[in-house]
This record gives sequence, C-alpha cells and structure tokens, in this order.
Amino acid sequence: MERIAIIGLGLIGGSLALALKRADLSDVQIAGVARTRETLRKARSAGAIDVGEGYASDAVRGARVVVVATPILAIREVFEEIAPALDEGAIVTDVASTKGDVARWAQELLPAHADFVGGHPMAGKEHAGFDEADANLFRGRPWVIAPSVSAGESSVQTIVGIAQLTGAQTLLMDPLEHDSYVAAISHLPLTLASALFSVAFGSAAWPELAGLASSGFRDTTRLASGSPEMAHDIVMTNRENMLHWIDRFQDELSRFRGMIASGESELVLEAFGKPQLERDNFMLNGPPRREMAGPEIETIGLGDLLLGSKISGYLKKQQELIRDMEAREKKR
Ligand code: NAP
Repeated sequence: MERIAIIGLGLIGGSLALALKRADLSDVQIAGVARTRETLRKARSAGAIDVGEGYASDAVRGARVVVVATPILAIREVFEEIAPALDEGAIVTDVASTKGDVARWAQELLPAHADFVGGHPMAGKEHAGFDEADANLFRGRPWVIAPSVSAGESSVQTIVGIAQLTGAQTLLMDPLEHDSYVAAISHLPLTLASALFSVAFGSAAWPELAGLASSGFRDTTRLASGSPEMAHDIVMTNRENMLHWIDRFQDELSRFRGMIASGESELVLEAFGKPQLERDNFMLNGPPRREMAGPEIETIGLGDLLLGSKISGYLKKQQELIRDMEAREKKR
C-alpha cells in the first residue's frame, strides 16, 4: 500500500483528494490532515480520504508523496512539523498561490533525503473549504510545477503525473518566474476586484448603484468575495511583484483617463477596440503556443516511477479516450 498524504483538506486539498480517489488507483491510500475534526469527518464521508489524521507528522510517516495544501503562511510551520517524520525518498509538493517563499522554506527546513517539487494549480473559486471541493476543479487548467534545484527527475515526473491525473495541464517554471507572472494575471485582478467594489460601495450613492449593478459589475468584482486570509497571504508573499503590476496598471488607467479627457473619438475607439480584438483572440485560441509549451515531459511512464503502473495505467486510459474523441470529432 502506497500512501499519499494531503495536509489541508479545503477547496484545493479536498478537490485533489477527490480527483485522486476518482482515478481509483489500486493499493494507494490517501491520508488527509485538517485542523478541525469536522473537515476530516466531511472528507471521510465524501470518500475523499481513507485515513484522517489530526497531526501532519503522523500522516507523512510512510508516505511516498506529501501534498501541503494549507494557507500559504501556515506552510512554514507544516514543513517544520513534518521534516523529522519524512521517509527517505519522500517527495513533498504544495499548491500555494505563490512559490518563492515556499521554495525558500523548503530549502531551509526539509531534510536532504526528501525532494521538494513545488506546485500551483491555476484553478479555484471564490469560496473556500471542503464543502466547495470538486473532483473536476483542475480539469483543463494549468498546473505549474516549480521544482527545487536539487529535486531528482523522477520526483519531478511523479508530481507531474499526479497533477495530470486530475486532468490539469502541467508546465514547468522557476518559482520566482511564477510569482512575477501570477502577480499580473491572478493577484492584480484580485486586487482590482476588491478596489473596484470598495470604490462603488464607498460612494454615498451606493444604495442606488447597488440597485443598478448587474452582470458587468458582478463579473468584474467576483474575486472580491474570495477569502481575505488567502488574499493576505498572497500579498505578504508576493509584494514586490504586485507593486510592479499595480504601478503598471495605474499608468494604464492614467492613459485611459487622458484619452477619455481628450474627447477624441478615434482614440477612444482604439483604446477599447484593441483589447477587444486581442481578448477575443485569446479567448478563442488560448495562449500562444510559445507561452504554454514549457519543457516537454513524457506522460507515459511517469507514474511507473512512483506507483508502479497504477498512475500510468490510468493516464493511458485517459489518453485513449481523448484519441477516440478526437477521431470521432474528425469523422463528423
Ligand atoms: P481552504 O479551503 O481554506 O483550505 C485550507 C485547509 O487547510 C483547510 O482544510 C484547513 O483546515 C487547513 N489548514 C489551515 N491551517 C492549517 C494548518 N496550520 N495546519 C494544517 N491544516 C491547516 O483554502 P484553499 O483555497 O484550499 O487554499 C489552500 C492553498 O491553495 C493555499 O495555499 C492557496 O494559496 C492555494 N490555492 C488556492 C486557490 C483558490 O482559488 N482557493 C487556487 C490555487 C491555489 P480546516 O478545514 O480544518 O480549517
């Protein structure tokens, strides 16, 4: 029996546990850790975990893979707690929204006989907790893999294999490079959603504004309903990159202001027309290949390195299914 320990069974840890359970890996035991008994009870009764543990150090004993899915600022303490209990050759990963500080803590605290391969599934919701967990959360979404420099190739491939089991698309990235990119496309939007909501709510006319606020306002402020604790941890671990992108945004907003103030219809049309074309292209065709390619990793055989043929057997079936679907699509 191989053990995968998942520490933190909220939206992300719970979704991963459900996705791994759905993959029905034989002889793999999922051990889950949460702070409260209530979360453990829910995870057990949903069939997300086989064993619930109150202490991370108990869950990681005998585990080949350890996934830390707690809030970012709790990860340091979790590393401290699990370090003495990790097995020789254990592979530790995480799912935190920022990677630089986590990589530093791993380097500082985890033992040399364990490999650290950071991760970040680029999927989520504005609501937290196990109740929101969903086995399909990661399907088709990017999952960044940010290995430590000392991590062995087979450890990297194992974490890639686990991420791919959930249906996510993996890409390898340096932790600091990751943090600078997500500041633009994840953390700036989060900040803007809260700032935009605050501007409207702070107005004396809020009762009237609220009565009129429809899909546009709701869509653009959706992220403001996310967990303030998560936003706090993100900001505290990615401040410089966020400041950079906030400055860039302020410059852009000033450009828009100037253009609106000018009253020149050609400039106004161009200012709104260019992003419309570019966003439509992005929505239709996805990211440019160059951006998403990353180093190629062979999927088949990945799981063999960790869990015998348990993971790779499942991935092969998935790939056959996809090939079938593509062939049927072509015939139509
Ligand atoms: P969440 O729903 O609030 O879940 C956090 C889980 O961690 C809960 O099960 C909680 O236990 C447990 N926990 C909290 N502090 C702990 C500690 N000190 N020791 C052990 N367990 C602890 O949060 P989440 O949204 O899943 O986020 C988890 C991680 O994923 C974060 O690092 C976040 O940055 C990252 N992430 C989030 C999203 C997103 O959109 N939400 C997307 C990608 C990545 P209890 O349930 O018992 O309280």
